[in-house]
Amino acid sequence: MPGRSLTSVAVRLQGQVYLFDAGEGCQINLKKTKLGIKSLRVVAVSHLHADHCLGIPGLMMMRAQVPDAGPLTILGPPGIERFIRQVHESLAFFLDYPLSFLEWNEGRAEVAYEDDLVRILWGPLKHTTLCLGYRLEEHPRPGKFNTEAARALGIPSGPLWGKLQRGETVTLNEGDTISPKQVLGPPRPGRKICYGVDTRPNKTLYHLCQGVDLAFLDGMFLPEHQEEAETKGHMTVDDAARVAARAGARAAVLVHISPRYTEEDMGKFGDAAKERFENAVIGTDLQQITIPYPGEDSDGRSNL
Ligand SMILES: [Zn+2]
Ligand SMILES: [Zn+2]
Repeated sequence: MPGRSLTSVAVRLQGQVYLFDAGEGCQINLKKTKLGIKSLRVVAVSHLHADHCLGIPGLMMMRAQVPDAGPLTILGPPGIERFIRQVHESLAFFLDYPLSFLEWNEGRAEVAYEDDLVRILWGPLKHTTLCLGYRLEEHPRPGKFNTEAARALGIPSGPLWGKLQRGETVTLNEGDTISPKQVLGPPRPGRKICYGVDTRPNKTLYHLCQGVDLAFLDGMFLPEHQEEAETKGHMTVDDAARVAARAGARAAVLVHISPRYTEEDMGKFGDAAKERFENAVIGTDLQQITIPYPGEDSDGRSNL
């Protein structure tokens, strides 16, 4: 649609970017967001329908124009590697960074990918072709630093506090050894996101959505087009809002709106979604959302 591009979600964490789906022209919007193409680590593709993967070649080409871009990992269904390799071969475009592929198969572990910041889980959804849903989980953070306990143990404030906060054991001048657990609270859970588009509600979708901080879900149709949603393997906005609410998501952004609707219909979409789940909204292009840690508001203060 003129004011609504294809569905992609970019997650930025500590300067690194994880992208879910790349429809045609995705690199243009990514550039507009200024998230940084160099810091793109992973592209996770839901399925091999054009509106979810035709943007990858353009992204790859744009990324080859920045110096010292690191490795890029592409996750997706069987065939994603062949698709990319064929385009690369046919167009013979310049590529100067390592590219690796992880394709889903029946016997694969639930954790598709893991690095120092996150792990990404995947599973098959229910669409007209094999379509994967994803769940990105930030690694748990160390517990809160207990300054009183640190003072009581005679640890001077400064670099030693920092080391303990990072989980390192320290030795004081007097020779005493202090372990992080003496001054840190229990580990705090990281944030979690679900990306589930082009699907009917299914068990895997509920599983991937369980207790997430934010769920990006397919809300392609208005409730009055339920039958069409079922035959095309999509959800209505109220299907999607119901999944998010039942799975205990804290909030949901409903995306992948059918181009048959106009911007004037968006109010109806919003109302239908909110009826099922008050923390559901309809996503818009270039929308940026800061996800607070559970129990904290967006500027990091505790709201418990
Ligand atoms: Zn599809
Ligand atoms: Zn689609």
